[in-house]
Amino acid sequence: MANINSRRVLFEKFSNQLHLLKKEGIINIELKYEKTYICPICLDQFSIDDIISSDTKNFLTEEDAPPDKLGGSRIALTCKRCNSTAGHEIDAHLINRIRMIDNGRFYPGTTHEGTVEFEGKNIQTEITSDGDGKLQLLHRFKNNNPTFLDKFINNINQNVGKFLNLKQKRLKNDSEKVNKALLKTSYILTFAKFGYIFLLDEYYNNIRKEISDTNTAYSGHVFLAEQFNPTQLGTYYILNKNAESIFNVFSLETKYSQTIIGNILPLRKVKPEEIYNHLTVKGYKIGVPDSIGVTLNVSTYDKDADLFNDMEEINRVLNWYKSFHS
Ligand SMILES: [Zn+2]
Repeated sequence: MANINSRRVLFEKFSNQLHLLKKEGIINIELKYEKTYICPICLDQFSIDDIISSDTKNFLTEEDAPPDKLGGSRIALTCKRCNSTAGHEIDAHLINRIRMIDNGRFYPGTTHEGTVEFEGKNIQTEITSDGDGKLQLLHRFKNNNPTFLDKFINNINQNVGKFLNLKQKRLKNDSEKVNKALLKTSYILTFAKFGYIFLLDEYYNNIRKEISDTNTAYSGHVFLAEQFNPTQLGTYYILNKNAESIFNVFSLETKYSQTIIGNILPLRKVKPEEIYNHLTVKGYKIGVPDSIGVTLNVSTYDKDADLFNDMEEINRVLNWYKSFHS
């Protein structure tokens, strides 16, 4: 089965690094299995048997970051519980948010649901955009009171050119959950790049809690939208003094649109808002060399460094990380 094979590849990649870090004394967690995988969200331990769904209840599943409906790819494993909780509770809100934005732009060929207000009541409608600036509204009798709909249609026929109060259907997209979904994407992207080098640090427990526990309030993280272009996608180090952090630039894609988001994942005990304030005081000049502001400096590490097997590269990252945590 193709899925088991791709789960196996991901399992081996992260598990090998985990055991290497243990052997080198970088982490001191007791590993339960000969080959162990730690779910990056709940930190539970899993064995290679857990990539086979039928054997255990809470098996390992492939995790998409960003969500696959927004063009993400399967870059890590999370346990089934974390994957489905986050999927239902938070990712769905992000997907809906992007859909609402798409719907509001009436891309050619799209159809979505909405309502038209008439005499204080709503008529259910399907809105189709033909891409020529023309919208077609379809009112189904089965979704509306037929008598009221007849009255509405008669009214339109007598008042050609009258404005309609058209509203698109509101899809559930709670802002806090949208932000949590973005935070989860950034966290999983960081895990995919660095594995367990520093993410097992208890410093990240708050972020894990925000992602996995719906009752935990969102504590405020830094997202920057519409400031980047597709050539800047990736994971970077921000090296500015007092704002040292990991910076992920990722893309949310639908059939119709691409939204590029930047997220600062803090590295040390500085609140995300403090980093944000620090950076905004100086202004963002991301990727512009020698300018004031955020420098996406990729010169201190090798972009193609093997952070899963090469101890020299792993130590380089670790030393950088530790220099902000001592
Ligand atoms: Zn988990």
